[in-house]
Amino acid sequence: MLNEKLYKRIEKVFEQKPGIINEGMEAEYKTTRLRDGSFKAKVEVFGEAYTVNCRFCGDTRERLNISYTYGLELVKDGKVIKFPHSWICYNETQCANGNEPRKKKNRHELYEALIAGEPLRVDDRHLQKAKKEKSDSQRPLPYNMVPIANLLDSHEARSYLLNRGINSGIIREANVQYIKWDPSPILKGRIFFPAYSVEDPKDCIGGQARYIEDDGSGIKYYTVNKLPSRSLYGYHRLKDKNFAVVVEGPLDVLALKGYGLGIYSCAITRNQLKLLSKFKTIVIALDPDLKEKNESMFGRLQRQIIELKSASNVYQLTLPDGYDPGDLGFREMFKLIKKQFGIIWKV
Ligand SMILES: [Zn+2]
Repeated sequence: MLNEKLYKRIEKVFEQKPGIINEGMEAEYKTTRLRDGSFKAKVEVFGEAYTVNCRFCGDTRERLNISYTYGLELVKDGKVIKFPHSWICYNETQCANGNEPRKKKNRHELYEALIAGEPLRVDDRHLQKAKKEKSDSQRPLPYNMVPIANLLDSHEARSYLLNRGINSGIIREANVQYIKWDPSPILKGRIFFPAYSVEDPKDCIGGQARYIEDDGSGIKYYTVNKLPSRSLYGYHRLKDKNFAVVVEGPLDVLALKGYGLGIYSCAITRNQLKLLSKFKTIVIALDPDLKEKNESMFGRLQRQIIELKSASNVYQLTLPDGYDPGDLGFREMFKLIKKQFGIIWKV
């Protein structure tokens, strides 16, 4: 956890144990210098966030997200960086965004409860330390799951996968699960894609829970554990091959009949780059929306790919407008790679 002080204050104010999303992920922000010599941050990506039931709208599904940077005064290399009060309620009522008096009042009330009178000043080194300490700890796997391979075709989770062209053999092989119940309301009713450690294909180290229909949480994928930094979805199936297609999520990997590698998000970590550099030829086929959705993440990804090129032949696939790799499927992907790079993809 990056900001335990804030976490504890939230726990006290909201009288519940907050959930943690994007654990360990640092925010992205720009700074401008203020007259008093301190710096003001403009947050572009929340990073790690704490989730609780929103008391402003009576939400009971932990849709209030508070960035770990909320009201933070970060001391970094002798500089003081002041962060804004970044929070969002994902309920339709949008408790925080806008200029209506009610929303302003909500923002003020949260600030009063969490920060006023007691600024949150944290030394950057302490944030780093908290991050390192946390990296070995585990968030438990969802509490009650059933293999989707055992469900009827009419079950919403199974029919969802079948409709995306993921057949029963793949569902069984990838051991995709349905979360029947979990103490965290955000996990219940989601499809769970287990992920396995790089060293041991039987050691489930976490996974990704995807909603079947938009559940109003604003969180399409919920990652259990810090997988993105440690593994690639589908790695065991491909590890002895020379060729890999890199996609974003598990769903894309399965739509390619398991012949893809998922990075779990749209940013590649160092560990993942290391794993990828074992492959002689790599085709990157990320969601074309990414550039529009998140310019800074896209830029970072470009730099990482250049880094990777020193080890492998890297190609960036251009997908047809409006398609992501999951929609395209295995056959079309095969054709596209052949057409764009002259590579015959042998599986
Ligand atoms: Zn709310």
